[in-house]
Amino acid sequence: MAGKTSTQDEEELFARPRVRGIELMRNPTSNKGMAFSLKERLLLGIHGLLPPVFLDQSDQVAIIMENFYRWQNDLDRYIYLMSLQDRNEKLFYRVVTEHVETMMPIIYTPTVGLACQKYGVVYRKPRGLYITINDIGHVYDILCNWPIDDVKTIVVTDGERILGLGDLGSYGMGIPVGKLALYTALAGVHPDQCLPIMLDVGTDNETLLKDPMYIGLRQKRERGPAYDQLVEEFMNKVVKRYGENVLVQFEDFGNRNAFRLLEKYRYKFCTFNDDIQGTASVAMAGIFASLKLTGKSLADNRFVFQGAGEASIGIAELIVKAMVVRGLTIEQAVQRIWMVDSRGLIVKNRPSGGVTEHKIKFARDQKPIEKLEDVIKMVKPTAIIGASAIAGAFTETILRMMGKFNDRPVIFALSNPTSKAECTAEQAYTFTEGKAVFASGSPFPPVTYKGKTFYSGQGNNAYIFPGVGLAVTVCDIRSITEDVFLEAAETLSEMVTAKDLAEGRIYPPLSDIRRVSTSIAVKIAEFAYKTGLAYHQPEPGDKAKLIQEHQYKTDYEQFISPIYDWPNNPAKI
Ligand code: NAD
Repeated sequence: MAGKTSTQDEEELFARPRVRGIELMRNPTSNKGMAFSLKERLLLGIHGLLPPVFLDQSDQVAIIMENFYRWQNDLDRYIYLMSLQDRNEKLFYRVVTEHVETMMPIIYTPTVGLACQKYGVVYRKPRGLYITINDIGHVYDILCNWPIDDVKTIVVTDGERILGLGDLGSYGMGIPVGKLALYTALAGVHPDQCLPIMLDVGTDNETLLKDPMYIGLRQKRERGPAYDQLVEEFMNKVVKRYGENVLVQFEDFGNRNAFRLLEKYRYKFCTFNDDIQGTASVAMAGIFASLKLTGKSLADNRFVFQGAGEASIGIAELIVKAMVVRGLTIEQAVQRIWMVDSRGLIVKNRPSGGVTEHKIKFARDQKPIEKLEDVIKMVKPTAIIGASAIAGAFTETILRMMGKFNDRPVIFALSNPTSKAECTAEQAYTFTEGKAVFASGSPFPPVTYKGKTFYSGQGNNAYIFPGVGLAVTVCDIRSITEDVFLEAAETLSEMVTAKDLAEGRIYPPLSDIRRVSTSIAVKIAEFAYKTGLAYHQPEPGDKAKLIQEHQYKTDYEQFISPIYDWPNNPAKI
């Protein structure tokens, strides 16, 4: 203790957190488990509350991983990880970041889908806000109950179209929770700035309405004016509570609401719809990267979509935009796209009834064709994109045809979770005799076909939204244009290396996703300042530095400054 001055004593005292004692360990944001040093234990009133050993964060990661693998199924692993998040936030994010390839399929698709289906069993502690249709007139009061004032990113759902699983009502809360965990793990958005919200307007899922464990409103889904009233109040009160630059990401709304809410709010609020725009961006990146393998230009392609919902329409719109940027007219671009929905090829004058507004642009002027297979026979597409949640829609016949028409057919089976994929990676490679350029929404293991191993890419919007969201909040972007998503797509595709392509990947490996998200954020920041979208002033010279300065670090906080040496482990003294 030699040489210690009274100023140092004061500094040390000053450095003590407001919370001390057992509360420090009960709070997941300050808890460090056995990583509290001896000095911290003594000065913060927790000495003796922990076993005498000292473990640094790396040791703790090893213990978590050992426990993680002891669980026999993925749902139990999901619950285990959620409890870690509730217990020690920094450790949770370190584990997810360091083992991202292992953890993403658990905290995100496909396991998050299973977790949502069983959310009544999975639910442990409050995480996020539930605002119901009965709360109209009181939304602001509920937002004020959230203890943190500095929220910058909200992910909101009404639970109507959870992945490809349909209406899960309040059980859908698992999605905003999972997406926001990825904001932090993949892009470094501070977890305190993230808020998951469920707008519970009821559910039309009869099984849930009868499920004694269902945690949501036990009533039919509100579809009348009260629904719009709730969403309108929600948007306005969110801005009142958190400011006009709070980012609101719409997630897993049914498509009757998703498109119109996006149109209604995109120019008035800082908002985007991930299923429409985030998916479009990641698929576009995959298409850009696929051109390097097929040797074609974008305009040389003919795209057939299976499904004409949020994902497909979003992708088709962005393809049109990218083609227009490359010199085609909108009409020429649209001519390269065919869309099949539950009623067959989308054509003008459908005998079965009209075409909804968001599909009209892509309606072909020809006779109806009912079956996807027949559409493919007629169009001889270079690329087929599945986002219909119809498992197996890309049949052996279809895949074989694609292999016959193309040297390198592009096949995207984007539906989630895995059980809904239009085909598996193995089917895509086998039936096209190893020619497919394949990506899927949920991960598939590598496939070996005739001695060559293919590592298919995961065309998932998780590559896009965390980086875009980070840039939006850091640069104070208040309007998220389609150009932002095109820029993100180009950035992502440029990160695919020759080695990735040689292995069959059109996305960088998931293990690189944190670096990818940061690069996307930096590129969007540069783009936003160049195009006048950024409100954060003065403009920083070094955008990468600006982004990095705002990224959450998983290192534990030092509550007591290490002014002098004090051996940590008495056993070693
Ligand atoms: P959506 O409900 O908006 O659209 C589904 C579409 O599929 C509709 O157009 C519907 O008519 C069509 N469809 C239904 N049955 C069909 C059939 N038998 N044949 C052809 N089309 C049929 O849903 P969405 O938001 O577009 O999502 C669809 C799927 O894509 C889901 O599984 C979702 O998880 C997945 N998705 C993946 C990503 C990703 O990042 N990979 C992102 C968003 C959505």
